[in-house]
Amino acid sequence: MIPLRTAGRTGRPTPCVPWREGRVAITHPSLAAQIRQHIEAQYPYAACDECLTALLVATLDEIHAAALTVAKEEGFERRLRSCYNCQRTVELTGQV
Ligand SMILES: [Zn+2]
Repeated sequence: MIPLRTAGRTGRPTPCVPWREGRVAITHPSLAAQIRQHIEAQYPYAACDECLTALLVATLDEIHAAALTVAKEEGFERRLRSCYNCQRTVELTGQV
């Protein structure tokens, strides 16, 4: 069987090029991961979506959606709590 070759100048197959950041506009692919990380770092305190918006550079809608995603994960929940930052009692995502 003849090995398949790509038409490169060297004749070697083109290596798998990792996805390069900045080439495609994707809205915060790791925002939920950043929120999770933040919650874990601040435990037992938790910040509301609005305070997370200021901490992580994203819109409130993006933070809200990502916070809801994190809340569905094992060990996290979303309920009325006081935000350690602004002291308001609002629905926020924190660790159980
Ligand atoms: Zn807050």
